Amino acid sequence: MTPGELIRPEILALKAYHVAEADGMVKLDAMENPYPLPEALRRGLAEVLARVELNRYPEPSGRKLRELLARKMHVPQGMELLLGNGSDDLIQIVTLAMARPGAVMMFPAPTFVMYGMNATLTGMRAVPVPLREDFSFDADAFVARMKRERPALVFLAYPNNPTGVLYPEEDVLKVIRAAGGLVVIDEAYHVFAGKSFMPRLTEFPNLVIIRTVSKLGLAGIRLGYLAGRPEWVEQFNKVRQAYNVGVLTQAAALFALERLDVLEGQAALIRSQRDELKKGLEGLKGVTVFPSHANFFLLRVPDADAVFERLKRQGVLVRNLHPGVRSCVRVTVGTPDENRILLTALREALT
Ligand SMILES: *Cc1c(COP(=O)(O)O)cnc(C)c1O
Repeated sequence: MTPGELIRPEILALKAYHVAEADGMVKLDAMENPYPLPEALRRGLAEVLARVELNRYPEPSGRKLRELLARKMHVPQGMELLLGNGSDDLIQIVTLAMARPGAVMMFPAPTFVMYGMNATLTGMRAVPVPLREDFSFDADAFVARMKRERPALVFLAYPNNPTGVLYPEEDVLKVIRAAGGLVVIDEAYHVFAGKSFMPRLTEFPNLVIIRTVSKLGLAGIRLGYLAGRPEWVEQFNKVRQAYNVGVLTQAAALFALERLDVLEGQAALIRSQRDELKKGLEGLKGVTVFPSHANFFLLRVPDADAVFERLKRQGVLVRNLHPGVRSCVRVTVGTPDENRILLTALREALT
């Protein structure tokens, strides 16, 4: 008896999410905030964490943390929050809850790989609808396809990963209004986009928003949140593993989000560096830079495999998206030093 005879064929066909070895590298592959918490805050955090009762189970719904998030993130009155072990967890919870036999999940593509991955895991039929050649969104084509496929679930990353494109608000509204199913807007990069559907959440009964604190500077603690009407949250809450957010994560998140201004200050720095880096990248011959509202850029280069390898040899780790996204690599906006190193290494890699 072998796993090959017993494991579901769709699992056998999957590849595990790939995370590259990054020791000693300039790490620009995963859209992390490059800035640590200031030293004084780290000491304060250590004291808080020292008092956490590790022998006790977490408060299962993370009530205090939900209340703080609702306040800090301007979640509209009457909406509820569900916490996840990263937003990856929430994507899985929503998908698992909606995966009736034969149900369809739709999303523009290329996009975040976890949507399609979770469709596979739960037996939903994934329908990726190609973005235009420049990665802009053809909302009318998407809506036409929705009418045929009748998706139970639509995922829209706003802005999109790995392209960085922020779809026009009007286009997203078209999708929400035409959808017979649930639309999930994934706002992993909202702090860099300056745009959000959070204020409009109450307008649409078929909309939920998921977010993460990962790109804000807390990728290591694993915390995501879903905001939506109580009717949706009530159902998703049944699918959630009872203790999906640990005591250390809850305590660290409470501490850091009480000081959200620090993280937002870092995000502002990253946004201004994004504009600087864009100029530098646009000055490189042979590189097409796609406009980004996130903390990364998608670059089209003559030979993505070669560029990736040459950057790696120079100690710079980026994400190679080829062949999934033809001839493209994705680079995170780093510190000014890291961005300079990237530009120098890229210039070298392109010759
Ligand atoms: C990074 C990312 C996530 C995952 O966030 P985690 O909270 O770290 O799991 C979700 N959606 C998109 C679009 C992302 O880019």
